[in-house]
Amino acid sequence: MPNRNDWFRKGLDHIWLPYAQMKTLPDPAPIRSTEGSLLLMEDGRTLIDGVGSWWTSVHGYNHPALLKAAHDQLDAMPHVMLGGLAHEQAYRLAARLAQVTPGTLSRVFFTESGSVAVEVAMKIAVQYAMNRTGARRTRFVSFKGGYHGDTFATMSVCDPEEGMHSLFAGVVPEQYVVDLPDSDDRAAALDRLLAQHDDIAAVIVEPLIQGAGGMRMHSPAVLQTLRAACDRHGVLLIFDEIFTGFGRTGELFAADRAGVTPDILCLGKALTGGVTPLAATIASDEVYAAFHTDSAEHALMHGPTFTGHAIACAVANAGLDLFEREPRLAQVRAVEKQLLDELDPLASLPQVADVRVCGAVAAVEFREDFDVEAARRWFIEQGTFIRPLGRVVYLTPSYVIESRQLSRLTGAIADFAGTLA
Ligand code: PLP
Repeated sequence: MPNRNDWFRKGLDHIWLPYAQMKTLPDPAPIRSTEGSLLLMEDGRTLIDGVGSWWTSVHGYNHPALLKAAHDQLDAMPHVMLGGLAHEQAYRLAARLAQVTPGTLSRVFFTESGSVAVEVAMKIAVQYAMNRTGARRTRFVSFKGGYHGDTFATMSVCDPEEGMHSLFAGVVPEQYVVDLPDSDDRAAALDRLLAQHDDIAAVIVEPLIQGAGGMRMHSPAVLQTLRAACDRHGVLLIFDEIFTGFGRTGELFAADRAGVTPDILCLGKALTGGVTPLAATIASDEVYAAFHTDSAEHALMHGPTFTGHAIACAVANAGLDLFEREPRLAQVRAVEKQLLDELDPLASLPQVADVRVCGAVAAVEFREDFDVEAARRWFIEQGTFIRPLGRVVYLTPSYVIESRQLSRLTGAIADFAGTLA
């Protein structure tokens, strides 16, 4: 019988994995299939998934409604391009996203990845100023600890020092990367920055939780400060909700939880529950009005081959149905309570610097560095998949995770803390 792992050994000599030094990378865990909140390994072991495949699989893996939507669409028509043609799934999804997002956010542009959704948001912000007044506002304000993607424009708004793109400093465009305005001093500094520079197109922020930067959380007041500052200085506000969107913080969007509406909103990841790639950039009526003119030159110059991919949009429509039909947000709040109950006690340990919980996100930050890859393997030995970010061990489970499965994850983190004592 052929070894089930043949594909793994052969492919490992050729595949180039993300963010990895291939020479020293310990083997990834080969997965055969998924089920709910479980990863079934090729060697027969089962892992409880604490990550949800880079924060996407909010409905659990293999949700029948999402799989059916993909199959049905595949039977009807895999995809037709949106240049000159139209199909129901993308148009329906655009209308529904306009309805569920706050304020006057209403014009939806589809892409296939979060990074490109942010690129499009940045492009819209620059072109918005050009279309309105001919002004060249080409730079952005972003925040320390922020992460917005891996393409060149999005790298430029990531944290240039602590972020994973410090290597490219000097190559990507230079932006204004500042502290989040979480104090009066910092709010005043931001205000001065916006007053002094007339080349700023927009402020971009991950609202409530900076994800890849280490699950750093801030209060809604920070976002209210940003909104007020942007309004005062005529600068657009972009919320990158690629991580926080679709219930992660306990409301459908972090914008809802914070009570602050941006001018442009970026969505991705959980939009399809992780079943297919899809992302979206949504502009307000006011922003869109600058493009909706009699001038052909005011058109948005962007058009990825797979914009509005029909299978992806069908799955996303089914995902929105699930948010309407199933008690997802109540499930997130139950997860939030359990995470708090079970992880907060770790805050008193001397090796723990901080414990943070918001919605279905928990982070335990340790005081000392540890070997992240060794930790990942240790968690696998405990029957869990948990992949730390630097000193931060975090959970971003699916919202439908069973309470006893979640306890296994929090218990594994408590045991891991014990190994660092
Ligand atoms: N923005 C945020 C807040 C993210 O968390 C991510 C991915 O982790 C991205 C953008 C980039 O998305 P993608 O990896 O789909 O390009």
